[in-house]
Amino acid sequence: MSQENKALFIIFGGTGDLAKRKLYPSLFRLFRKGMINKRFAVIGTARREWTNDYFRDVVIESIESLEPSAEEIAAFTSHFYYQSHNVNDTEEYKVLGELANQLDETYKLEGNRLFYLAMAPRFFGTISKHIKSEKIMTETGFSRLIIEKPFGTDYETAKQLNDEIAAVFNEDQIFRIDHYLGKEMIQNISAVRFGNNIFESLWNHQYIDNVQITLAEDLGVEERGGYYDQSGALKDMVQNHILQVVALLAMEPPTIFSEEAIRTEKINALKSIRVYTEDEVNQNFVRGQYAHGKLSGKEFVSYQEEPGVEENSQTETFVAGKLMIDNFRWAGVPFYIRTGKRLTEKGTRINIVFKSTPINVFREASDITTNLPENILTIYIQPTEGFSLSLNGKEIGDGFNIDPVKLDYRHSQENLDNSPEAYEKLILDCLKGDATNFTHWDEVANSWKIVDVVRQTWDKEEADIPTYSAASMGPKCAFDLLEKDNRHWIWHPDEWYKMHGFLKE
Ligand code: NAP
Repeated sequence: MSQENKALFIIFGGTGDLAKRKLYPSLFRLFRKGMINKRFAVIGTARREWTNDYFRDVVIESIESLEPSAEEIAAFTSHFYYQSHNVNDTEEYKVLGELANQLDETYKLEGNRLFYLAMAPRFFGTISKHIKSEKIMTETGFSRLIIEKPFGTDYETAKQLNDEIAAVFNEDQIFRIDHYLGKEMIQNISAVRFGNNIFESLWNHQYIDNVQITLAEDLGVEERGGYYDQSGALKDMVQNHILQVVALLAMEPPTIFSEEAIRTEKINALKSIRVYTEDEVNQNFVRGQYAHGKLSGKEFVSYQEEPGVEENSQTETFVAGKLMIDNFRWAGVPFYIRTGKRLTEKGTRINIVFKSTPINVFREASDITTNLPENILTIYIQPTEGFSLSLNGKEIGDGFNIDPVKLDYRHSQENLDNSPEAYEKLILDCLKGDATNFTHWDEVANSWKIVDVVRQTWDKEEADIPTYSAASMGPKCAFDLLEKDNRHWIWHPDEWYKMHGFLKE
């Protein structure tokens, strides 16, 4: 049975960074695998006056690193067409619609259309409206809309944006990309949980002491200073990626691994996360901004010195928080989250910290007289993917010393290289109409409600934002947050650098 999917891709923002860096290479990978083959066409559209030939050259450049053969290049790029078009101009949609119909006929696409909005969200409403009024949406086949984050800047703006889109597209036609959800290991969270009874049976407040989620970046804001300064880590990372990971970890098992069942459970999990009062925000959330720092002799400028960042900016480049989930499964179990830029190492990982044994029966025989080290399940998401489990064993030799050992599995580099890139997976899911790895409006809405109060509390704060040295693991308050609960961050890459003299205490 052929796996080929038929569709016309209309990419708004076809000359932009996202299209070049992610979308064209992902389409090429799908083409190579035969997921799209003869019956597809792509219209790139933006204001620039490009010809088809010029557009095809840009596409060729964007797939260079995938080392395509001359035949592959010719076959793939022959499906690409460019149409110059200002999305605010109603007349120009007519020309776009004509080209779309013509390509539909040439490639026998049966009315299947995928509208990819690789543009700033302020254009989403007007594009959706025109897609309908100018009849670019078809009555045969499917019409699906893919949109990028950020989805609003708070609940109110997100709702307004959603209302505009929902006036044209039904919820099952809207695919909100969170590229984190396309990552292999994020999807594997469900495999680890629901495929292994030894974990799922312990996956609750009786056995789990706390959960820690870290999304650390070693880079600063790079050339995105202007955008980032208006957003900050809370909106850029917590509202979407981190809360999605929390939902996957905290949700109830779905009855079946289907889009609808998973979404229902994720939405329920997000609804169970406690929405704090302002006082509770002050107790449970902290933020910071990177100052100048040095790692292994390399110097980094402070956030405020980065291009595009406002002088004396109070934008947070780091957030840590403690979330509580008010349901039977998780009552009393803190979910500690942290994310930041210019931290010691790049890495996304989840630590599930199990409760210690009720007593340490070896307390007199071994050199550990207090509680035994906890068992920890770590899920590595990037840059390596895999998981590890730390267990306590007996050290070889006389006496009865307890020695924590780590069972470690990482996917090989070869497997990783061959695994589909996040955008490739997500585009394929959208072609197939599978929205499991996209965010539903109810998820977006609940996530905003959780972070809005944090933002509002911080916006009232008059004191300067706490800082942390670039290349450290965040401000002191992030460590204090766990210490006051008699806990500590399990992942601490900074300690190795400090021990070897590469990072100052
Ligand atoms: P970008 O490089 O600035 O591209 C914006 C695109 O919009 C350009 O193709 C531009 O082309 C077009 N455009 C602007 N005004 C237009 C108008 N009035 N009519 C028609 N076209 C217009 O932005 P980007 O980095 O690709 O990001 C696109 C979206 O994806 C944003 O919402 C961003 O937040 C999101 N996103 C991007 C990334 C990434 O890696 N880049 C990652 C996650 C999310 P012309 O100037 O030729 O009109």
